[in-house]
Amino acid sequence: MSTFNVPALIRRAQQKKKKLGLFLKKLRRQKPKNIQKLIKEADKAAWAEVDCLACANCCKTMTPTFTKAEVRRISERVGMTYDKYFNKYLKIDEDNGDIVNQNTPCQHLGKDNKCKVYDIRPGDCSGFPHHVRGDFFYQVGEKLYENNMPRCPATLKFVENLERIVAEGK
Ligand code: SF4
Ligand code: SF4
Repeated sequence: MSTFNVPALIRRAQQKKKKLGLFLKKLRRQKPKNIQKLIKEADKAAWAEVDCLACANCCKTMTPTFTKAEVRRISERVGMTYDKYFNKYLKIDEDNGDIVNQNTPCQHLGKDNKCKVYDIRPGDCSGFPHHVRGDFFYQVGEKLYENNMPRCPATLKFVENLERIVAEGK
């Protein structure tokens, strides 16, 4: 049985969110030259401790954004027309025009915490939680990591590792 305790990690993230958020802001001001090396190391160490199949909190509590091509290929896979799939499961986010799920958990999450369309899941799902993708400092400024920490134990561990690695002066 997995010892990966998701509720405890989410509580820890809520407790540490402010402190770790201040650490990230400070790091953004300092902009260390070796930041790519630091985040890769922190990310690798985080995934060594994380069991996504014991969690699935992202699929249970958040929505991915879908491109139209992704809606097309997923609707085909589940034997529905584009429009039928869209009307049953999706909506346009009024704030930013993104295509998102109507409900959580995601319609494709199985009882075993596995994604039923894993091989064709949206790029937003395969890239989540975006630790080493995109512009790290921009994403810090957008509070991506800070906001994801209480939802994603991998992100909590990523930021904790980063704090430790920076303190060790690597
Ligand atoms: S990516 Fe994060 S929230 Fe999603 S299953 Fe893995 S640890 Fe949980
Ligand atoms: S499509 Fe799959 S990976 Fe993406 S949110 Fe739904 S269940 Fe999770």
